[in-house]
Amino acid sequence: MRKLKHYFKSFFLIELCKGLMVTGRYLFKPKFTIRYPEEKTPQSPRFRGLHALRRYPNGEERCIACKLCEATCPALAITIEAGPREADGSRRTTKYEIDLFKCIFCGFCEESCPVDSIVETRVFEYAFEKRGENIMTKAKLLAIGDKYEAQIAADRAEDAPYR
Ligand code: SF4
Ligand code: SF4
Repeated sequence: MRKLKHYFKSFFLIELCKGLMVTGRYLFKPKFTIRYPEEKTPQSPRFRGLHALRRYPNGEERCIACKLCEATCPALAITIEAGPREADGSRRTTKYEIDLFKCIFCGFCEESCPVDSIVETRVFEYAFEKRGENIMTKAKLLAIGDKYEAQIAADRAEDAPYR
């Protein structure tokens, strides 16, 4: 009896018709997919993308080389070397690097920073073409911070949504 049922189903293409019915049901419904990269999905202000080092409005770098971010990073992706700055003797980083191959984008570095210096931006469209480009140096991180400061500040404002 089971064999007969199976034969009957195969002969009349029942399964195929069922599948086509599902396709037909969704054919004229609104699409779940988007045409990336022309179209983008909404992004949370708390999105954890590419890192940046921020400056104060007067241009002074925020980082005070406390190394909390380095200590808290579970992936050991951050390397910091520090020393007194020649101009005023204040403690500053002489080397600040993040290895993006190690980073798991957990956001702990951002959470731990007492001066809102290291942050994760909304930038997620980046690629590496050469060996070593995965190392984000201090200069690169500061440049990203300078470029996206307006967005970074807006996302961290007191009245920002999801703050
Ligand atoms: S996001 Fe997480 S893994 Fe990446 S550098 Fe920061 S603390 Fe480390
Ligand atoms: S980025 Fe923040 S947590 Fe990391 S060393 Fe600088 S001040 Fe400290």
